[in-house]
Amino acid sequence: MKAADKKREKEQRVVEEMIRLYCRKNHAEYDSKSGQMCPSCQELSDYAKLRSEKCPFMEKKTFCSNCKVHCYKPEMREKIRQVMRFSGPRMLLYHPALAVWHVVCSVREKKKQK
Ligand SMILES: [Zn+2]
Repeated sequence: MKAADKKREKEQRVVEEMIRLYCRKNHAEYDSKSGQMCPSCQELSDYAKLRSEKCPFMEKKTFCSNCKVHCYKPEMREKIRQVMRFSGPRMLLYHPALAVWHVVCSVREKKKQK
């Protein structure tokens, strides 16, 4: 497996966890038994996965949030922004390893851009 593919897989996992966390805390439709998100969050998750799969910049960047090309359509961008704002800080609590990895990547990315 190429490094870029690994990155992609990890990114997809982090994004999915963030959306799930957001849904769990905000939407009554969330099914805590099966971990099934509500239809709207599931759609967002699928969309994020698809964007990540199609991303031509995976080699260079680590996260869509670090990307200069915003390929999300406006409606989805607004949704994912809300999810990030909510779940970003909480990820440290629920998924510390993933959260730390995300921060490390973001910092590294910012340095690279200078
Ligand atoms: Zn939801």
